Amino acid sequence: MASVLIALGGNVGDVRATFRKAIAQICGMAQGALIARSSDYVTPPWGDEDQAAFINACIEIETDLDPHALLFVLQKVEQKFGRMRQKDRRWGPRTLDLDMIAYDELSLQKPDLTLPHPRLFERAFVLVPLAEIAPDRVISGIRVRDGLASVSTQGIERLPDTG
Ligand code: AMP
Repeated sequence: MASVLIALGGNVGDVRATFRKAIAQICGMAQGALIARSSDYVTPPWGDEDQAAFINACIEIETDLDPHALLFVLQKVEQKFGRMRQKDRRWGPRTLDLDMIAYDELSLQKPDLTLPHPRLFERAFVLVPLAEIAPDRVISGIRVRDGLASVSTQGIERLPDTG
């Protein structure tokens, strides 16, 4: 079984409900076990700042799927929740964005899949939830908690659990 870290984000609709359903579907479709789930965080819009705040979270799953099969699952789940892709707004509004952050210790550079995720250490909105579930994981030679310490977390707020 591979240990896979996945980042979730969205800023359209009931994002927390979308996350709950999406996580169940990812685990079902990947025949995977949910090992850890972070809290949900409100995070300032990034890239294109003229849009609603995002909610972000991270999960760790264990699965037997290979990285590309898992990417296919993540894209299916994104589509199922009607992710709006706006070609002219690369960082624009979306119901659900799923990124594979790390797949075991695997390093991969393919046109459609880069592992570990190349922009992880620029993104406080991923590092904050990731550090909650995997602070000591070393990704691309950097410990997650150290990566977090080197970015600004201004404006990021943990949401209370919904139970
Ligand atoms: P985005 O629109 O930013 O979510 O990017 C989605 C595209 O990134 C897809 O076409 C994927 O094939 C590609 N991609 C490359 N590496 C990854 C990764 N580690 N996780 C998710 N998508 C990835």
